[in-house]
Amino acid sequence: MQALAIDGGPSLRSAFLPYGRQSVDDDDIAAVAEALRSDYLTTGPQVALFEDGLAEAAKVKFAVAVSSGTAALHTMYASCGVGPGDEVIVPAITFAATANAALYLGARVVFADVDSDTLLIDVADVERKVNSKTKAVVAVDFAGQSAQYEHLRATCESKGVVLLADAAHSIGATRHGLLATTLPDAATFSFHPVKHVAAGEGGAILTDDAEVAELARSFRNHGITTDHAQRAVAGTWEYDMVQLGFNYRLSDIHCALGRSQLKRLKSNVGRRRELARLYDKAFADIEGIDPLVTLDGNESAHHIYVIKVDPAQFTKGRAGFFDALRAENIGVNVHYRPVPWHSFYRELGYERGSWPQAESAYERILTLPLWAGMTEADAEDVVEAVRKVSEAYRR
Ligand SMILES: *Cc1c(COP(=O)(O)O)cnc(C)c1O
Repeated sequence: MQALAIDGGPSLRSAFLPYGRQSVDDDDIAAVAEALRSDYLTTGPQVALFEDGLAEAAKVKFAVAVSSGTAALHTMYASCGVGPGDEVIVPAITFAATANAALYLGARVVFADVDSDTLLIDVADVERKVNSKTKAVVAVDFAGQSAQYEHLRATCESKGVVLLADAAHSIGATRHGLLATTLPDAATFSFHPVKHVAAGEGGAILTDDAEVAELARSFRNHGITTDHAQRAVAGTWEYDMVQLGFNYRLSDIHCALGRSQLKRLKSNVGRRRELARLYDKAFADIEGIDPLVTLDGNESAHHIYVIKVDPAQFTKGRAGFFDALRAENIGVNVHYRPVPWHSFYRELGYERGSWPQAESAYERILTLPLWAGMTEADAEDVVEAVRKVSEAYRR
């Protein structure tokens, strides 16, 4: 057997393979160039057209485009009435923004544990933590598969709690044949370059609730009730600011790119599914390398591909695998460190040991490269590298 690259052997790949990457084609570039030559760089026609496309793709009535996925979370929480003193339940393993956005509004974050097989929010723990102060439960469609909204719905409805989704990972995912975005009261997307639809930066709120959509439109524009186009139609200069909003607008340049990318959403998700199947098949034969479980009835959109490294099988743990695979030029990553473990949250009083499933899963998880522009040969390199490192470190 070849020596591992980390022990001085040759790297399995000569070029580094990142864990995620955008796919930009000539149509995307032409769409952006056209927006740049148009009359509007922001608050122009591309915004409404992108929103129409998003609402259609998500099968909801309203989409409101904003400047990032984080801005989308902030806007969604505010528009659903989250405010000072409210509790917002979020999973302990997610990107920090899911929790941070509740703090922006003066709410208190309550972290629920996650299921160790899926890293989806643990329904039983949510049930335990919902109380009269809870305003919203936010599920994260981790790695691209839908959370168990029908169970969460049962808990939320009886207590008058809003059910929300951070769907940054799951654009295009379905649960029991229904698009995941149609299951919560509102959901958010991100258009960061590693996500399914890349706009450079950007995000959106998706909902069937007309009131939430209207509040979101005002919140992204300083809390003003009309935009310049509506005032032009009405023939007036006057506008009213009714809530304290932000400038969270997304430009026509970004929306033009997003619209063009959205056309390839289906093929992009299809490609991710093919590559995920290739991984599933290969790792079924490597003992101690366990991909996250996909629940029955879920078709994942496969934002990321996460494996768990079983410490009982190997002489090195996840950190050892991370270093060895990076040395082989495989861009592994970790999604995510439990949010309450960050110094900022620790100082707010959250204590380690409170989310046993999340915290033990965190010691094992490793994200492998997965993106639509990857070739089969790239994916086979990843499998080969995981096999090589597993064999070298097997007990
Ligand atoms: C990417 C992401 C966000 C934040 O999106 P930005 O567009 O980077 O602000 C929030 N939550 C999750 C789960 C994400 O993956």
